[in-house]
Amino acid sequence: MKLKYSDVKKTAGKLKFRTQAFIDGKFVGARSGQTFTTENPATGKPLAEIAAGDIPEVNRAVTAARKAFDRGLWSRAKPGERKQVLLRFADRLEANADELALLDTLEAGKPIGDCATMDIPDTIHCIRWHAEAIDKLYGHVSPTGPENLALILREPVGVVGCVIPWNFPAQMAAWKIGPALATGNSVVLKPAELTSLSAIRMAELAAEAGVPAGVFNVVPGLGETAGQAIGRHGDVDLVAFTGSTEVGRCFLKYAAESNLKRVILECGGKSPQVVFADAPDLAAVANHAVGAAFWNMGENCSCGSRLIVHKNIKDELVQRVVKLARTWPVGDPLDPRTRLGALIEKPHLEKVLGYIAAGRSEGAKLILGGRRILERTGGYFMEVTIFDEVSQKMKIAREEIFGPVLSVIPFSTEAEAIALANATDYGLAASLYTQDLNRAHRVSRAIRAGTVSVNCFSEGDITTPFGGFKQSGFFGRDKSIWAHDQYTELKTIWMQLA
Ligand code: NAD
Repeated sequence: MKLKYSDVKKTAGKLKFRTQAFIDGKFVGARSGQTFTTENPATGKPLAEIAAGDIPEVNRAVTAARKAFDRGLWSRAKPGERKQVLLRFADRLEANADELALLDTLEAGKPIGDCATMDIPDTIHCIRWHAEAIDKLYGHVSPTGPENLALILREPVGVVGCVIPWNFPAQMAAWKIGPALATGNSVVLKPAELTSLSAIRMAELAAEAGVPAGVFNVVPGLGETAGQAIGRHGDVDLVAFTGSTEVGRCFLKYAAESNLKRVILECGGKSPQVVFADAPDLAAVANHAVGAAFWNMGENCSCGSRLIVHKNIKDELVQRVVKLARTWPVGDPLDPRTRLGALIEKPHLEKVLGYIAAGRSEGAKLILGGRRILERTGGYFMEVTIFDEVSQKMKIAREEIFGPVLSVIPFSTEAEAIALANATDYGLAASLYTQDLNRAHRVSRAIRAGTVSVNCFSEGDITTPFGGFKQSGFFGRDKSIWAHDQYTELKTIWMQLA
């Protein structure tokens, strides 16, 4: 797809949506006949009616997944064979990349420029990377005595339930299914109810690539029903969840009250961006700071929503950040020039506006934005928003807003900066800016977060683990070879030699 506004709109208008569950290699509707509506957040208009999966569909998908696992066509296939199939899957994703990018843009309100050049290429790369790793991993032999041989192996856990959010629909699916399928598991994936379309299409493309029936199932549905059914299912061995900390807690409860399934949680964040007075280049810092705060409309788990900046450079940096933020166009997500699309849905927009009201009433100084805009489109657009003179006690500095709202917090000493960075229940990501190498090491170790980037804002790449400390995460990591560990059980085979 050429990224020309008129072409993108034309292609979007011709899209056909898959709206049913994909179970055991086939599209199926909900047994109840129920559907739910998915809408385009940029227009507020309905996009499609999606099959409302519930307990019967989850049961059906888990049964298919278990059967496939026990048959062994995938779980016991030679690693090299699984690799070839997943590489073909990546090729099928690539051949349909334009469509997948458009599905995420239409359903999530995300700018097409981001979906076409970041989300979908990263989705494809993620599947390819995990596929390539499959036949390069070795087990271990333990250093035991001559009378014994002990093999230490990793085996797939079995049936994996994946429950994912709406902010990076295809990419979050890939982060789960890449390593889960690579290690030989069968998967039942429930996309967020606001963004089901790309995940359903991905399951169809996986089947075309040769992933056997029952190995990768997608059950669209609501969290309370389909999500909970996965969480409580007695034959699901592991749930990999990405979403809010609040719902993450539910999955721990579901596991405790059912079969003690393994639970991996990737949850929310309130990431600090710490800028010391010796930061190398304030223009570059401003560029990263704006990207960290406003990329994906701030609907990003690692969103750098707190700019913790040394008091001596605060005014200059804030001026640069405001100037740059003003240049980020908000508008139709199908327009390739758009940097900020629509927020995901009306209740979420209202929640974000509620935080802006709270910031004002708690005494923070609103220096940019703060309002809903483009209301005549019917979409959920809002201005890029910056608060200065924020204190860490304020609600806007403590809670995850998940919108384009940046809080500026001044500091004087390194110890104070570290304390501010860590004064949060979350610990997903952080960034810091300094020219002092010793300080860079000292502070990056002192910050309690899963990823700390220095002199840039970054989540790393597919080779680096991603996940959180504290209430941002639990048990595992997405991406990298460490993601394989969480979808496998460690087995010891102990042999007595004659
Ligand atoms: P959410 O927690 O509301 O929903 C996530 C998923 O859980 C959805 O599929 C939803 O249907 C399901 N769900 C909701 N209620 C449920 C219930 N009671 N039982 C079972 N399932 C239920 O999150 P969201 O609004 O979709 O996404 C935003 C959140 O995701 C933010 O907090 C963000 O930080 C987090 N997130 C984290 C990461 C990460 O890697 N750590 C990445 C992306 C998003």
